[in-house]
Amino acid sequence: MNTTPGLLHQATALANSDAPMVDPFGRSVTYLRVSVTDRCDFRCTYCMSENMTFLPKKDLLTLEELDRLCSAFITKGVRKLRLTGGEPLVRKNIMYLVRALGRHIETGKLEELTLTTNGSQLARYADELYDCGVRRINVSLDTLDPEKFHAITRWGDLANVMKGIDAAQKAGIHVKLNAVALKGFNEDEFPEMLRFAHARGMDLTLIETMPMGEIEEDRTDRYLPLSTVRARLAEQFSLSPIPFKTGGPASYVKVEQTGGRLGFITPLTHNFCESCNRVRLTCTGTLYMCLGQNDAADLRTPLRASEGDALLSLAIDEAIGRKPKGHDFIIDRKGQRPAVARHMSVTGG
Ligand code: SAM
Ligand code: SF4
Repeated sequence: MNTTPGLLHQATALANSDAPMVDPFGRSVTYLRVSVTDRCDFRCTYCMSENMTFLPKKDLLTLEELDRLCSAFITKGVRKLRLTGGEPLVRKNIMYLVRALGRHIETGKLEELTLTTNGSQLARYADELYDCGVRRINVSLDTLDPEKFHAITRWGDLANVMKGIDAAQKAGIHVKLNAVALKGFNEDEFPEMLRFAHARGMDLTLIETMPMGEIEEDRTDRYLPLSTVRARLAEQFSLSPIPFKTGGPASYVKVEQTGGRLGFITPLTHNFCESCNRVRLTCTGTLYMCLGQNDAADLRTPLRASEGDALLSLAIDEAIGRKPKGHDFIIDRKGQRPAVARHMSVTGG
């Protein structure tokens, strides 16, 4: 980006950094997901290959820069912010960023600061997360069987994640479990997982596997439509649709037998784009306006071009103006390549 004083002056005049972000389809952007690192201490088979090449550390935005970027979005109307990754809690000194963002909870500008985590570091950080204003988190858990857990995560230890969940609940953080539905892996476990989650006061959300990034296996072999899962669960449980929303794309039912909530995220069988309120920021300052499309905007250059936020605000407005109507994920045996080349760990779930 040209950073001549003339352009900066023009940008300052044009930028209305407090104006809410509304995309060309009239959707307000109020939810920012931030992948703070692409690295992870697990290697879930559907998410990453075993030998991943990660970004060089020098390409990452600093935590101070991430705070500045997130704060610019909050000024522009973001009310919910989710830290994700890779594994957000393995980024060095991550609590600096969580604490810095927590100040927006204190002022009331931000309604919710949350994260999606694999739970491996939760036992260590739960109390501090609560102290920083985090009240709800999502923990990814695809199975309750320790051996299967080790197999799917390659490097994970279920007992450690369970300790993390205990610690989070003890700290007063509301935990929601997320499980990716995988054919031939956990499809028989959902009744048990549902009872487990609900007995501990946790919602459970099931997710369809999305075609993102090259992995060792063929995702079509593991793809399990949630319409099938739901029909099977309905044979055992009474599922009543409820209007409950968390700001994310899940649609929920109440399970009458347990009294708990079960969510379905169905990017493949049901396109949820019409109500999309989200954009995604990577740890290098790239903004993806849609999880399922390749178009992206570079925010690192305007961030670094000046100390003020006028150029940045203008670049954000320009990017929101390009937010597409929706994604078109399909899992297709003929089309061997993933719909989106980047892995989920780049933009976070
Ligand atoms: N490491 C953290 C975790 O696992 O919760 C945060 C990042 S992870 C990429 C976020 C979510 O994306 C997880 O719930 C994970 O199961 C899910 N995920 C990863 N790859 C996926 C894929 N290809 N399709 C669907 N969900 C995926
Ligand atoms: Fe890591 Fe989360 Fe991907 Fe698993 S799903 S490899 S925990 S980023």
